[in-house]
Amino acid sequence: MSNKKKIVIFSTGGTILCDFVPGQKAVLPARRGGDLLRQIPGLDQWVEINIVEPFQLPSPHLTVEHGLQLSEEIEQYLSRQEYEGAVVLQGTDTLEEMAYLVHLTLRTNKPVVFTGAMKSNGELYCDALGNIAAALQVASTDEAQGRGVLVVMNQEIHGAVHVSKTHSESVAAFQSPQFGPLGRISMDEVVFYTSIDHAGMADKGRYQRQVEQPVLLLKAYLGMEPGLIRLARETGIKGLVIEAFGAGNLHPAVAAEAAVMVQHGIPVVIATRCRAGRALPLYAYEGGGKILKEAGLILGGGLSGVKCRLKLMLALGNQLNPHLEF
Ligand code: ASP
Repeated sequence: MSNKKKIVIFSTGGTILCDFVPGQKAVLPARRGGDLLRQIPGLDQWVEINIVEPFQLPSPHLTVEHGLQLSEEIEQYLSRQEYEGAVVLQGTDTLEEMAYLVHLTLRTNKPVVFTGAMKSNGELYCDALGNIAAALQVASTDEAQGRGVLVVMNQEIHGAVHVSKTHSESVAAFQSPQFGPLGRISMDEVVFYTSIDHAGMADKGRYQRQVEQPVLLLKAYLGMEPGLIRLARETGIKGLVIEAFGAGNLHPAVAAEAAVMVQHGIPVVIATRCRAGRALPLYAYEGGGKILKEAGLILGGGLSGVKCRLKLMLALGNQLNPHLEF
């Protein structure tokens, strides 16, 4: 019997499957997962791969439904004993949200690793092959088991909960500003730095794949119009996330509209618009985080706005009290 690990690759689209077309100075979808794998020397010596294509889309075209579908398909494959891990190839634009959605809804202890590329095939700094090879290495490592959904880019291993795309074109775009990476791919070794629970393991696989929609995300800014919040309420949204200032503070007029939203039974979660840190019940002036909490708004802790939104959608879809979920 072969002792090669068997990994299933979900190939879904994105730059990793695109070519740079010099004549047009543009990047266009051009490839399938298998074309890339053939270019990685010696791959079939250490891993056995099955590629599936649940959909092929640039990642800005994806929806929450695609994430739930992917989560279900991964679970089906990994429930089969022969598969020891999964790798997802996808566009980087929405990768952090898809990875988090899968983290929250997937029940498995086997490694699940998302990767993509910041530079397409044919660009000088193309990171496609390196990222796929590294993701496969992590997915076939026993130490990656039970850590929740992972994201591997630029030789680093991140947890789905805190990872974020922080640059529009750098190969070092993916970072976890709150805690840093969980580990690294160093030569042919996968090294985890820490066993500390940075990966939000309590939430791993916590939710059934049911969401309530629409849940809106707004970002606070200087002079934000409070009428925006009222308009959102009048359109019949089921929940709202606001990326507030600093430690979770809003202009009093915006805070007042958000409180009206809560009085109408629509949950409002406050995240910070800072790239790290938490929304806290700290400031007790009008619109401050402490006052928002007292008015019934939910503080989202250290989760980013986009991830608070996904969690709120799932909490509501699972008929759970959102106050107990954050
Ligand atoms: N716009 C592309 C996408 O998300 C970027 C990428 O793949 O990295 O599909």
